[in-house]
Amino acid sequence: MAVTPNVQKASNDYFAALKSRTPESEDRHRELSPNSMALFSKAGNLFPGGYTRDAIGRAPHPLYIERGQGSVITDSDGRRISDFWLNATSLPIGHADPKVVEAVQEQAAYGSSFFAPTSPELDLAESLVDRLASAERVRFVNSGSEAVMVAIRIARAHTDRSMVVKFEGSYHGIYDDVYWSVSPPVDKIGPSDKPIPVPYSAGLPFNSDRILVLPFNNPSAIQRAFEEHGEEIATVIVEPMANRIGLILPDLDFLQTIRQCCDTSGAVLIFDEVIAFRLGYGGTQGELGVTPDMTTLGKLIGGGYAVGGVAGRADILSVTEAGSSSRVTHSGTFNANPVTMRAGQATLDTLTPDVFEDLNARGVNIRGRLRQICDGLPLTITGAGSLFKVNATETEITDYRGTVTADQEWERVVSLALLNEGIFLTPGLQGCLATTTTDEQVEQFLSAFETLITG
Ligand code: PMP
Repeated sequence: MAVTPNVQKASNDYFAALKSRTPESEDRHRELSPNSMALFSKAGNLFPGGYTRDAIGRAPHPLYIERGQGSVITDSDGRRISDFWLNATSLPIGHADPKVVEAVQEQAAYGSSFFAPTSPELDLAESLVDRLASAERVRFVNSGSEAVMVAIRIARAHTDRSMVVKFEGSYHGIYDDVYWSVSPPVDKIGPSDKPIPVPYSAGLPFNSDRILVLPFNNPSAIQRAFEEHGEEIATVIVEPMANRIGLILPDLDFLQTIRQCCDTSGAVLIFDEVIAFRLGYGGTQGELGVTPDMTTLGKLIGGGYAVGGVAGRADILSVTEAGSSSRVTHSGTFNANPVTMRAGQATLDTLTPDVFEDLNARGVNIRGRLRQICDGLPLTITGAGSLFKVNATETEITDYRGTVTADQEWERVVSLALLNEGIFLTPGLQGCLATTTTDEQVEQFLSAFETLITG
C-alpha cells in the first residue's frame, strides 16, 4: 500500500507517543524483576554479552524463568506470566504436559542415551512418515540448524551441484550457507528483485557459487534465477510459512513456481518446517498441497527437548546409506536419543487433526480480534494457523521489504509494556497459542494490548 506523506507523519506521531514512555516501561520492568536483573548481571561475567542464545535477548534484561506449566511460566521473582511464545512455538501443547513428563520420566529411568538405536526412534519416524507427504525416510539430529545443514549437504550430494537458493528475510538457523540476508540493513540490500546477499554475522566468507539470495513471494525472480543458474542450483530452501516475514503464508503461485523450476532443473526443493509443521497435521505442506523433496524439522517434534529432523524422498536420502556412490556421512552422539523421541511422540500423539482444527480456529479468532482493536491505527496484523504478529506499519507484508517499514522500536516497547502486565510475546510482537492457552489468558492479553495502544 502506498503511504502518503501526511499519513506517514500521523503514523510517526502515533508511534512516538508510546515510544516516549520507554524509560517508564524499562523502570517498571526492573522493579518487577530484581532477581532476574541480578542473575543477568552475573551472566555478564560468564557469557559474552550475558547470553548463550541471541534470540532471547531483551532490553534492559531478560526474565529468568524457573518453571512452566501449561501456558503459564513463573520467573525467578515468582511472577506468573502468560506465555504466548512457548519457546519460539515449540510447545504447542504447553509446558510440562503430563503425558510428556510421564514419558520422559519413564525413559530417563531406563537410560537416556546409548551407543545403539532404540525403538522410540522408529515410532517417531513412523509418525512423521504418516503425516508428511514428502517423508519416506527420516534422519534425526539435535537442532533445526543441524537439520538444515544436513539437508543441504544431502541435496548437494544428490545433485552434484553447489548453489543454495534462500530467500531474503528468512531464518533457517545458524549454518553458514543460509546465514545470509536474514535481517539485512535497508541501505545494503540492493534492488528488490535482485537482493544483494548480506551476511547475518561476521566470520562468513561469501562464495557466489554457493549462495544465491532471492526475494520472497516473487515467482518471476525464481524463473530468472533458474534461467541463469539452472545447472548450478542444488537446492531451494524455503519456509512455507515465513516466521520472520510476519508469520505469513506465501502466495501459492510462488511455491508452485519453485516446485516447477526444481522439477525442470533437477534441483531439490526443501521446505523448512521447523516452525511451519505447527500449522496442521500434515504440516504446512499438507495445508497448502505443495510437496517438497525434503523437509527440515525441529522444535515441536522433540516435545520440548533438543531435536531436529530431515525427512524426504527415499532416493534422495539414500545418499546417507553405507555403500552409496556419493555418500553423505552423518552421525551425532545424541541423535534420536530416546528421551527426546518419547517426548516428541507424546506431543504428536496429542496433536490430532481435531486438535489442529481447534487451535487454528482460535488463531483465526485472535487475529480477527486484534484487527478490530487496531482498526484505524497504523498497525497490521499478520499470521497463520495458531500464530499471530502485530506489525507497526500500514504496509501490507508480503516480503522482507515490507517488514522493514515497521517501527521495530515501537513493537519492542509495546512488548515490554505487555510483559509488565504479565503477557509474554517476542520483542517483535509475535505470538502463538497452545492447546493450554485459556480464553481468560487471551482476553487478558487483548485487553492489556487495547489499553496500551489506544490509551
Ligand atoms: N529453521 C527455522 C524456520 C527456524 O525458525 C529455526 C529456529 N527458529 C531454525 C531453522 C533453527 O532451529 P534451531 O534453533 O533448533 O537450530
